[in-house]
Parts: sequence; structure tokens; C-alpha cells
Amino acid sequence: MQVPLLDLKPQYATLKDDALAAIERVCASQHFILGSEVTRLEQDIAAYSRTQYGVGVSSGTDALLLALMALDIGVGHEVITSPYTFFATAGTIARTGARPVFCDIDPVSFNLDSAAVAHFVSTGCENRDGHLVNKATGGLIKAIMPVHLYGQVAHMDPLLAIARRHGLKVIEDAAQAIGSDDEHGRRACSFGDVGALSFFPTKNLGAFGDAGMCVTNDAELAERMRVLRVHGGKPKYYHSMIGGNFRIDELQAAVLNVKLPYLDAWSAARQRNAAIYDAAFARVAIGEFVRTPAAAKGSRHIYNQYVIRVKSRDQLRAHLAAAHVGTEIYYPVPLHLQQCFEYLGHQAGDFPQSERAANETLALPIYPELAPEQLQYVVDSIARFYRPG
Ligand SMILES: *Cc1c(COP(=O)(O)O)cnc(C)c1O
Repeated sequence: MQVPLLDLKPQYATLKDDALAAIERVCASQHFILGSEVTRLEQDIAAYSRTQYGVGVSSGTDALLLALMALDIGVGHEVITSPYTFFATAGTIARTGARPVFCDIDPVSFNLDSAAVAHFVSTGCENRDGHLVNKATGGLIKAIMPVHLYGQVAHMDPLLAIARRHGLKVIEDAAQAIGSDDEHGRRACSFGDVGALSFFPTKNLGAFGDAGMCVTNDAELAERMRVLRVHGGKPKYYHSMIGGNFRIDELQAAVLNVKLPYLDAWSAARQRNAAIYDAAFARVAIGEFVRTPAAAKGSRHIYNQYVIRVKSRDQLRAHLAAAHVGTEIYYPVPLHLQQCFEYLGHQAGDFPQSERAANETLALPIYPELAPEQLQYVVDSIARFYRPG
């Protein structure tokens, strides 16, 4: 048996005719930039995310960057975020000239720990003239950027309360969490000032290349993002702001418009696969070696990844590779220990939960088209590793 980490070909087979017809329509129109496909996608994704405005952009990374730029975050500013995430979360903060400020994660959800944020704000910061200032650096704390990692909404209420109390903006990195809801039924991207989505091919809603979107309920902010997406020119060739080329392609929008109606069914299939894994792991009784993901009760976890915490992770991964089971480590090096962030002055031990997670987590195949026998084979292969013979 072969169980790849991800195989997009079966999904393509189900929508090939519609996708190619949509691509053909765009080609026939020769309208490749910011046309009707983009407008339709922006409206539909904003509605899907229970927000009012969508601004289609070139990637999830550019969605984060555009959100930060539109909120005027830059040199002298700091943004609180998680060190256990994809690089772009902190990379975009640093690219604006601002400083990423890391707070540790919750070991169960792997999301930013609001208690760690509260502790940093109360012990590491002080209020100067109504602004929250990092006592160690003198930088102005401007925003919190929680990440809804693996498809599960971060615990938002305490983060929102901190943000409200100190006048901070909230940018949700929802690259892995389109359509996920917390235990109160509140949707990813609907909490903060801006939600950033990625349509990278491995995400639950993937384009045929790079694409992303910012969604917001703030009309003025949406307009700033629209202008910054085209170099800050409004009217064209008259620049009151320095933006960039952050546009989504009409071709990608056309493909995404074909795919969006399937998204709920795909995410439901991932949930079904996660339930099959959970039950199979319970049956093999290897709980002392493997901890399965914990979804908050009543929440809608969309399982962009199904990530287990295990003993002897790297050996298990090699064992699974030999059994033709694809896995991945999201993420092997927490961001505070990345070479490019040496200037932040962190060392091993600063964020122990993030460091533990980087050493112990393993993502298993979870894509919608997997057969139950394949999932059982993955669990049996893992059980054989811990209990050979
Ligand atoms: C994928 C991802 C991004 C970046 O999205 P791209 O479309 O690849 O640029 C940002 N943050 C997180 C958490 C991601 O998973």
C-alpha cells in the first residue's frame, strides 16, 4: 500500500472539465488582471468567511504583508505572534520593518497561548501616553497576529480582550483555516481587523499556483488594501502611498470559483478521515506513544493537517517512509531559532512548548480522497513501530 501525504490528482479528476472551461473563458476574454472572476471570488470568499470585503492577492504571504502595510505597521513597531508557524507569519512582520515578538504556544492546540501573551503584556510592556511599549526595546506594540494552525481557530476571546484594552490591531493568519469555526460557531477571519487566507495548492482550497486573500469588515481598510495592491496608485499613476504588485491572477480566481462550491464537502471529508484516525488510534491503544489532535468540543476544525505528537518522531518518520507512508514536519525549527531572526536575541529554551512541538509533531496524510483502508494502514504501521512483533 502507498499513502502519500497529499495527492491532488483525484480532486483534479472530479473538476477537470469545469476548471479547464473556466480557464478557457479567461483566455478567450484575454482579460487577465482584476476582472469579473476576481470580483466574484472576493465576494464569495468574504461571504464564506462571514466578512464583508475581500481583496484578492498573489499569495497568503502577500495577504499578511498587505494587511500589515494597510494598518501602517513598520519601523519602530512590534507585532505579537507565535514562533510555531510557517515562516511567512513572522517573515512578513519583519519585512515591514517591524519586530516580531514571540509568545509561546498552548501545547494542546499548538496555537498562540493567550496566557503567554497576557504575561508578556503585563510584565514586559508598559503604557506610555496611551501606547503599549515593549520595555526591553522601546518599540510600540501595534498588533497581535494569531495563527489558526492546522485548521483550528485559536482561542480568540482573551486575545481580543488584550487587543481591545491596549488598542492593538488583530490580524488573523488563517492560511490553514478557511471555513473553520470556534466552539461558539464563530468563523476564522471574522474576529480581527483583517483575516489572511492562502490558496496555496496544499491548503483546503488550493489554486493552480499561488494566490491568497485579505478579508475584513472595515470598508476603509479594504479600500486601502485595494489601493496598496496596485502600488498604492489611486488614481492610476498617482501615488499617495507606496504599495506593491500584490494582485491575484484572473486565471487563479477562475479556478478557485470552480473549486469553492466543493470546499465544504472536502473539509467534511477531512473531518471524517480525522475521526477514522482517532478511532483507529484508540483501538491500537498506543496512547503512551502517540497523542492525537484535540479539537475543541463543538468547534469546526477543518484539518488542513492532522498532526500527532509522538515519541521518537524522527525514527517513526523513517519507519513510515519505508512503509510508503508520506509524512511531514510542520515545523522543524521554531521561528525564534531561525538564523535570520538571530538579531532578536533568542536562544533555545525561550519558548519551550514551541521547541517541544518542533521535536515531537508529525503530520499524517489527511486529504479528502483517502480510503479508510489507507488510514487504517497508516495507524497499523505506526502501531507496529511502537509494538513490533
Ligand atoms: C501557507 C501559509 C502561509 C503563506 O501562504 P502562501 O500562500 O504559501 O504564501 C502563511 N501562514 C501560514 C500559517 C501558512 O500555512
